Amino acid sequence: MTSQTLLELHRKGAASDLFAGTQAKQTAKLATPDFARPRTAIGLPEISEVDVVRHFTRLSQESHGVDNGPYPLGSCTMKYNPKRNDELARLPGFAQAHPLQPADSLGGVWELYERLQGMVCEITGMDACCLAPAAGAHGELAGLLMIRAHFQTLGQPRPVVLVPDSAHGTNPASAAMAGFDCRIVPSSPEGRVDMPALREMLTPDVAAFMLTNPSTLGLFEDQIVEIAELVHRNGSLLYYDGANLNALMGIVRPGDMGFDVVHVNVHKTFATPHGGGGPGAGPVAVKKLLAPYLPVPVAVRGADGVARPQSGADLSIGRMKSFHGHVGVLLRAYGYLRTMGAAGLREASENAVLNANYLQHQLADMLPPVYKQFCKHETLLSGEKLNTSARQFAKRLIDYGIHPPTLVGAGCVYFPGDLKSAMLIEPTETESKASLDYQVGIFRRVFEEDATDEALVESAPVSRKLARIDPKA
Ligand SMILES: *Cc1c(COP(=O)(O)O)cnc(C)c1O
Repeated sequence: MTSQTLLELHRKGAASDLFAGTQAKQTAKLATPDFARPRTAIGLPEISEVDVVRHFTRLSQESHGVDNGPYPLGSCTMKYNPKRNDELARLPGFAQAHPLQPADSLGGVWELYERLQGMVCEITGMDACCLAPAAGAHGELAGLLMIRAHFQTLGQPRPVVLVPDSAHGTNPASAAMAGFDCRIVPSSPEGRVDMPALREMLTPDVAAFMLTNPSTLGLFEDQIVEIAELVHRNGSLLYYDGANLNALMGIVRPGDMGFDVVHVNVHKTFATPHGGGGPGAGPVAVKKLLAPYLPVPVAVRGADGVARPQSGADLSIGRMKSFHGHVGVLLRAYGYLRTMGAAGLREASENAVLNANYLQHQLADMLPPVYKQFCKHETLLSGEKLNTSARQFAKRLIDYGIHPPTLVGAGCVYFPGDLKSAMLIEPTETESKASLDYQVGIFRRVFEEDATDEALVESAPVSRKLARIDPKA
């Protein structure tokens, strides 16, 4: 197989093969001369159809995806995405709808949105929802802009947002983008929010506290009810980073824990494909208090039973996304939720937590957990017993067809600072026990290599086309 680019694959006359030739003739009959001009006139490479297919098939096989093998990338919830949802997204009524079509001709989209909004509210324990934000970080920005608008309406300048030091890096970034000053709340030695520090930091200028629960350390903040009371007593709001609901779907709801606003990543929890920056969606859901500020569009069902975009949202923060958001992704999420049902979602969460604890236990003699307790959907494992490092260990896993876990500690930006070398493992519920046992076997093999052949582990990955990308470039 070659690794040429499309331009290098150019071969004069190649595009005049049977298919392309027939198509060109048809186009010439149908279209204006402008449409029928030969592709050479605008400098496109000429490549035969079979070479185009081979080119893109080869590219698709050069990177690792959950369809190739295990993908225990902590915090990212790389669960398997059932293919039936891709089929749904290809339904012609949705796939061929045009973004510039008049809104009133998109009845199916508004019906889908009204139903999915309701499901997101039910799962999160919120009152109203907008599906438009394009990703988790985008949902965070939407949530924080709503919080800002709320305090503007109240005439209370509250310029500060609190974020724990274990938060995903997007939290402080979104707070800054929404115009807030961000202050970092330290973690306790048990990996929870440091309560005395939080009490002290809750001053009258605090608009919101952003929290992930279970945290990005895979730990449940068991003082959440007290945290919510403290935050609300201060007149502040509680933001839930629900990028990853995989530990608690159908078990506990952010709204019941006292959160006022939440975003969810359908491309993590609700099994729509992600990775490589592809389209996702980060719906935001809020309690009644913030509902008037939701972005547009929001679908509502009229007295006649028909769903339409809501009109007259005076206090709305406006549009977060062009047109109607990522319809195809939201359609997959809807398919997933309908397939799973309430009981299925609960079972998925239970299995995600069980799988993470199983791995934590099986790997403990090689990679001991940083926090010695049961974890939720993911677990933070220390590389302290390794001769090389968690980073090299992870790179060697690539040679055995396992995607590296999330690396934490030195060189990683967003985790509590004193961790030297650790990895965050999230197996997800879609890995079978056989797959988990297989992974443990590979981990053990790499652990032995780390003890006997440090140079090999240091030079990993040795099997890949691109071994190292300069992290500073
Ligand atoms: C993935 C993630 C985000 C960001 O989501 P994107 O869709 O990548 O923008 C935010 N918070 C947490 C906890 C995450 O895991």
